[in-house]
Amino acid sequence: MKTDQKDRASAFWMPFTPIEAAANPLRVASGQGSWLVLEDGSRLLDGISSWWVNLHGHGRREIAEAIYHQALTLEQVIPAGLTHGPAEALAEGVLSHLPEALCRMFYSDDGSTAVEVALKMAVQYWWNQGETRRTRFLAFEGAYHGDTLGAMSVGDRSSGFSDPFRPLMFDVTYLPWPSTWDDDEDVELKEAAALKTLDEALENHGDTFAGLIMEPLIQGAGGMRFCRPEFLLGVQARMKAAGLLIIYDEVMTGFGRTGEWFSCVKAKTSPDIVCLSKGITGGFLPLGATVTTKKVQDAFLGDDPSRTFWHGHSYTANPLACAAGLASLELMEEEPFRKFENWHRELGEALKNHPRIRRFRAMGTIAAMELLSDGSGGYFDVSGPLLRKAFLDAGVLLRPLGNVIYILPPYCTTREELTLIYESILRVLSTF
Ligand code: PLP
Repeated sequence: MKTDQKDRASAFWMPFTPIEAAANPLRVASGQGSWLVLEDGSRLLDGISSWWVNLHGHGRREIAEAIYHQALTLEQVIPAGLTHGPAEALAEGVLSHLPEALCRMFYSDDGSTAVEVALKMAVQYWWNQGETRRTRFLAFEGAYHGDTLGAMSVGDRSSGFSDPFRPLMFDVTYLPWPSTWDDDEDVELKEAAALKTLDEALENHGDTFAGLIMEPLIQGAGGMRFCRPEFLLGVQARMKAAGLLIIYDEVMTGFGRTGEWFSCVKAKTSPDIVCLSKGITGGFLPLGATVTTKKVQDAFLGDDPSRTFWHGHSYTANPLACAAGLASLELMEEEPFRKFENWHRELGEALKNHPRIRRFRAMGTIAAMELLSDGSGGYFDVSGPLLRKAFLDAGVLLRPLGNVIYILPPYCTTREELTLIYESILRVLSTF
């Protein structure tokens, strides 16, 4: 049956996109390096690594070939009771870049399911030890951990996106997030207030908590809000003293994004569970992973089948995704993520003192800034979709989070390409 372009567009229901707004989507034909090529031949510079997943550029031959060869060898196998080389090698490779205490990797399909696994693993860790009341989590205001029910439950609830599902979500104890900017004089006060809330929660409800979940160093979808390693250490000290589990959601921050392999390495902290996805396959195929320690794993040992972690999906540890992950890991060995923080700081100089920008900040490969309406202190009043369209018209794929513009490039991006992104921001600002 012949389908015209309009029908094709309407058959594909896009995520996080109002149906009307998706009536005339841009049609992408191909991708190469940091660029996307549209069907009409025009090009877009990918400033957000296609929703933060792409590490080494689009069309990267090494990863494409690894997937091709793996597909000819073993495309998929039931993962319960059977194992294969790519799953084992990728687990070992990823673990070699994480703190030593993390020694076991459980695969899933994406960031949300990596978080679901972490939450379930934490609850069953306690259940297996007879502590069945420990089902409650501590989480942070402003957090985003995904859009499945459990992941939504531990995420921020103020934006409205989870409103219809509230009756299905479980209760969480929220802590304030001490957002930190370069010139922030109140940071220690904000951190102390957040830690005091944590102290009070532990004192009042300590025996009902399973653990705490957080995005370490950078809250991503909540607005690229940074915090200091000192804060992570403060949280860690309290959680370890209370004997509770710390879950790091490194779905966004993992694989070099903060300028180190992982946030926990950068902050010199040792979480009990780490959630990974996005960059794990270099952006080629979906894959999630939940990494944990011997201490957590040991709670699942024993002859009684009820101690088994009863979780798994049809495509768990898919060999093609694992092969892509291995090829990506090899490209990561050159640590291409290290160069970006200096570039951001140098190029950011032109924006820092712009009257409509405040809080320009950079950590590792990520830079972010907030837009003001007119320099008078009010928030920028141009809506997100309008800004997004203005950037697309300028030939750049950027996707502001409210009034926060951020840049999160693939690691193959050259300094010249990054300069084009910064120039496009100045150009777009001058049109509003
Ligand atoms: N956790 C964090 C920190 C994220 O940024 C995201 C997605 O943006 C997720 C979890 C969910 O990942 P996915 O969209 O792959 O389900």
